[in-house]
Amino acid sequence: MSLHRFFLEEQVIANERADAFALRLASDDRQHVRALRLAPGEHIAVVDAAADYFECEVLSVGADVMVRVCRRAEMPDIADVMLVAGLAKADKMDTVVRAGTELGVSTFVPFASARSVVRLDAAKEAKRLARWRTIAKSAAMQSGQPRIPRVEPVGDISRICALLREVAGVLICWEEAEDEMGVGRALARMRAQADTAPFEGSLAVVVGPEGGFTHDEVDAMRACNDRACVVSLGHTILRAETAGVVACALALYELGALGGVGGTA
Ligand code: SAH
Repeated sequence: MSLHRFFLEEQVIANERADAFALRLASDDRQHVRALRLAPGEHIAVVDAAADYFECEVLSVGADVMVRVCRRAEMPDIADVMLVAGLAKADKMDTVVRAGTELGVSTFVPFASARSVVRLDAAKEAKRLARWRTIAKSAAMQSGQPRIPRVEPVGDISRICALLREVAGVLICWEEAEDEMGVGRALARMRAQADTAPFEGSLAVVVGPEGGFTHDEVDAMRACNDRACVVSLGHTILRAETAGVVACALALYELGALGGVGGTA
C-alpha cells in the first residue's frame, strides 16, 4: 500500500540540520495527521517545497510531528498533461479536478469559452479557485501523486491561445471533428513531427463546456501550435465532465502513465 503523503508549502528538508525535526504542516494537514491516527514508527511520504521527495519515519505526534528521513526517493518521471476545460455548470469542474488529479494531470486551466454558461466575477472566481485547489491537494494526497497539480486562474480565448503556444502538443477534443482521429493516432503524429523524439514537454488537452466550442474557437486554438490536433473521443457525445476525464486518461495512458505502454512523453 502506498505511504500516506504530505506536501510541505515552505519547508525544504535538505535545509534541516538535525536528524530529527518537526514537519511544518499546514493546518488542514495537521487535521489529516489526527484523522489518520499517525503513530511513531509509521513511515510517510513527504514532498517538500523544493519538490524533493522523502520517505520519513514518524518519531512522535504531538504539537508537532517529529520525523527523521529514512531515504530520499527519486521523483518519478511523469507525463506532464495540462487540462484546459471550458467552464461548466455547478460542481462539474470539482469532479474534473478530483478525477484528473487522481489520474496524474499536472495543471488545470478553467476556460471562460464563448458558450460557457457560467460567468464568474472576481469574488466568485477566487472562491472557486480556492475550492478547486483544495480538491486538487486532497486528491493528490489521497491518490499518492508526487506533486499537487496547479489550478490556474480562469482564462479567456486569448489567454488559452497564449498557453497553447508554449506546450509541446495540443489535443482539441471536438465532437464535430470531420476526421475521426483518436488520441493515440494524434500523439503518434505529434511524435513523428517532433524534432526531439519522443517529443518532450507538456501536452495540453482541451475540452469544451456543455455547449461545446464554436468553430472560431477551434480554428483559433488549432492555429496556436503546429502540433495541435483536433481529436475525436468516439461516436457518442460525452458530457463535459466525462470528456475531460476520459481525454486525460487516454492521453496519460498513451504517454506511459496508468500502466500505458506508450513510453515516456
Ligand atoms: N456540443 C455537444 C456538447 C458538448 S460536450 C452537444 O451537441 O451536446 C462537451 C465537450 O466534451 C465538447 O466541447 C468536447 O470538447 C467534448 N466531447 C464530448 N464528446 C466528444 C466526442 N465524441 N469527441 C470529442 N470531444 C467530445
